[in-house]
Amino acid sequence: MATNTDVMDKLVSLCKRRGYVFQTSEIYGGTGSVWDYGPLGVELQRNVKEAWWRAMVVARDDIEGLDAAILMNPKVWEASGHVAGFSDPLVECGNCHRRFRADSGEIAKGQCPVCGAKDRLSEPRMFNLMFKTHMGAVEDAAAVVYLRPETAQGSYVNFLNVMNAARQRVPFGVAQIGKAFRNEITPGNFIFRTREFEQMEMQFFVEPGTDDEWFEYWRSQRMEWIAGLGITPSRLRFHEHAADELAHYAKRAFDIQYEFPFGWQEFEGIHNRTDFDLKRHQEYSGKKLEYVDPVDRNKRLVPYVVETAVGVGRTMLVALADAYREEDVEGETRVVLSLHPKLAPVKAAVLPLVNKEGMPERARRIHEALRSAGLHSFFDDGGSIGRRYRRQDEAGTPWAITVDGQTMTDETVTVRDRDSLRQERIGSDHVLSFIRERMS
Ligand code: ATP
Repeated sequence: MATNTDVMDKLVSLCKRRGYVFQTSEIYGGTGSVWDYGPLGVELQRNVKEAWWRAMVVARDDIEGLDAAILMNPKVWEASGHVAGFSDPLVECGNCHRRFRADSGEIAKGQCPVCGAKDRLSEPRMFNLMFKTHMGAVEDAAAVVYLRPETAQGSYVNFLNVMNAARQRVPFGVAQIGKAFRNEITPGNFIFRTREFEQMEMQFFVEPGTDDEWFEYWRSQRMEWIAGLGITPSRLRFHEHAADELAHYAKRAFDIQYEFPFGWQEFEGIHNRTDFDLKRHQEYSGKKLEYVDPVDRNKRLVPYVVETAVGVGRTMLVALADAYREEDVEGETRVVLSLHPKLAPVKAAVLPLVNKEGMPERARRIHEALRSAGLHSFFDDGGSIGRRYRRQDEAGTPWAITVDGQTMTDETVTVRDRDSLRQERIGSDHVLSFIRERMS
């Protein structure tokens, strides 16, 4: 019986072997919990972002896109409360000098979880999670800037810019995909908690009083979105924040959790942030961030914000963990990533059965036709057909198109389905429409 640690170990090693995820600067021994995405990883990442952008921006009239900068005026982080309060309690072991989150549960009974020393842990002190750097040539306190720990603030400070430029009216939203940085005390679980990561965040500006309704709406929309990517419904659930879990800005918050091999954990948050952020930015900047009703000009309001915030890497880990399967096929273990075709990095592999009788050339033509139609296809003529199928199963490629002897006489190919292993023959000029139909 494979344990859950085994499953994570296997997933991590598959990710490296197939080019999904590499440890960053690996030849130098890596660096604290930062990862690089390889050829397949970058495609999965793009597909996750594309699915989000389509659902949140392209399919709707009431959400606009934005790409704000990572480096912002440091006042932003004073106004948002991050300078004063974006901290975790940290304890240090007096013996091995390792640091842990005091609220993580791993330091129970005053014992260091790494070296085992008893009663050597320091009192908790607050540790700010923002990365600091300096802007310009002078490295003094006046030049301190932060790497943003969330994209949301870029949407708040641009609230009026976006609304006016796009001629939007409340209710409307601003969507962003971008990098964020947090100097996490205890990162880990592969790409689950990293110090550099990407977020997909949407801030929906609404009239106060309608916020509860919009909150419910976005909560169900976001659950629908993740379920639409084929994630096992029984491994998804909501977790409502109790009063003592709520962030300083939040009136109400739900996490969407996934049952990872290491337990139920959040991968998306839906937050009712009230008018906290906009009001604070008004206060700190001295600029009005109000919505003026276009019909009744006397009606002015500072909108409430319903936020949906999800990590790209965490969503990738949800997809990968959910897709990973080991099956017994005729006495052999088959490892397969059953990724939703929308997410699969490569949609089809085109394989000549043998490397002769014109098969490679014929297969290459099909492969090139798929590529020029915009479908990511992979040509592979190396090794036995069984081994080539296995490689594609591990990579998560939904369909394998095989050119064989019969192709050369009647222009048909076999299509092998990654999940059911069923094979069917179709005309070689139908391959593109076959895949397109199933993708939609
Ligand atoms: P956590 O409690 O796990 O630290 P959070 O509640 O602080 O997360 P938010 O600030 O709501 O998270 O961020 C929204 C989303 O961004 C999270 O649900 C997660 O998907 C992603 N995220 C946050 N921190 C990290 C991180 N260190 N590494 C990877 N993804 C992250």
